[in-house]
Amino acid sequence: MRKMNKRCYDVAVIGAGPAGAVFASLLGHMRTDLRILVVDGQTERRNKVCGGLLAPDAQRVLAEMGLTLPNSVLADPQIFAVDTADLVSKQRRIYQRHYLNMDRYAFDRWLVSMIPDHVTVISGRCERLERTLDGYVLFVNGNAYKAQKLVGADGAHSLVRRTFVGHMPKQYTAIQEWYPDLGQHVPAYSCIFDPQTSDSCSWTIRKDGFLIFGGAFEKQNCKTAFEQQKMRLEGTLSCQLGNAVRREACLLTSPRHWRDITCGIPSVYLIGEAGGFISTSSFEGISSAMLCGQHLAKAFANGTSDDNILRRYKINTFGLRVKLWSKTVKRAVLCSPFLRYIIMKSGLQSIRVMEEDHVAAVLTK
Ligand SMILES: Cc1cc2nc3c(=O)[nH]c(=O)nc-3n(C[C@H](O)[C@H](O)[C@H](O)COP(=O)(O)OP(=O)(O)OC[C@H]3O[C@@H](n4cnc5c(N)ncnc54)[C@H](O)[C@@H]3O)c2cc1C
Repeated sequence: MRKMNKRCYDVAVIGAGPAGAVFASLLGHMRTDLRILVVDGQTERRNKVCGGLLAPDAQRVLAEMGLTLPNSVLADPQIFAVDTADLVSKQRRIYQRHYLNMDRYAFDRWLVSMIPDHVTVISGRCERLERTLDGYVLFVNGNAYKAQKLVGADGAHSLVRRTFVGHMPKQYTAIQEWYPDLGQHVPAYSCIFDPQTSDSCSWTIRKDGFLIFGGAFEKQNCKTAFEQQKMRLEGTLSCQLGNAVRREACLLTSPRHWRDITCGIPSVYLIGEAGGFISTSSFEGISSAMLCGQHLAKAFANGTSDDNILRRYKINTFGLRVKLWSKTVKRAVLCSPFLRYIIMKSGLQSIRVMEEDHVAAVLTK
């Protein structure tokens, strides 16, 4: 029997977002012989900046894990379509979508609740990481923990990536504001293009009595660009969003090159946004994070040496990396004002909404 040291682990996972929680949960079930530590800095007060929309790919990962989503995680209303608005050409089109609208904090906590009891989960931020002759040391809440292998699941500003892997992809500052939902003429979910203030898409989402407006902006002058875009949006929709009750901001990864999406190095593995696994066209990242967690857990389950685990993880994620890399092409098309104008003008795949008086007639029947 191995001598147990309370602060020595085989694997330490930094971050318990969708990537870290899925990885720790699956590996904990597959390899009960491993001592696994999970460190997570998310708290109710310091929770994640996110639109909280669960894409079909993420729903598929849950199905593969044999899970169903509890109602307590869902938010109101549920959404079937995205209203796409181009603030420059003034075009609007509606496209069908199959997202689930969720409370992101509740979703993350629910995923963490799947981690088996023999896995140690501690709440706190890992402040520093060091490499030693026989592994790694993590400094959390003033304590030191040792681990043989590290898994960086610590999101866009990954400490693990910055410390051991280097090369950070392009990043934006994402800003979101929450307003009381006063029934303004704002779609339940919209995707906004305004090249004058941002080269990416922005969004509005209704959620549990609030209306969220958010977007991704160049780090320099992000606040000014956000305010300008808000004014332009209010002009297009002919409404006022009102006074925000909450404003939040964080970094958002936007991989542009093949090397931006990385699996890590032997004994330091990167999953989720830490590895650049996020769509650069829509910023949808929960599904990729969960998929990475799943793929790395499978690589650990079959692998023995660090090289072997990394090789398997790279093979397992090859298709996902190609798919995410191809999003750079989609982004180039969607974010080109001319091509977007043509696509929206053509009406391809868009939904024709009934005239307002027809809708009113149906509703009053
Ligand atoms: C504004 C915005 C809106 C978005 N909307 C959507 C959306 O609607 N749908 C979608 O699919 N994706 C969306 N995304 C992307 C999505 O949020 C991320 O891609 C996804 O959360 C990545 O999951 P992850 O597990 O890799 O990282 P994260 O979810 O970021 O989790 C990382 C975890 O690590 C913890 N952590 C970080 N550093 C440390 C540390 N040093 N010590 C301890 N813990 C640490 C954090 O507390 C966090 O819990 C959005 C992103 C932004 C910024």
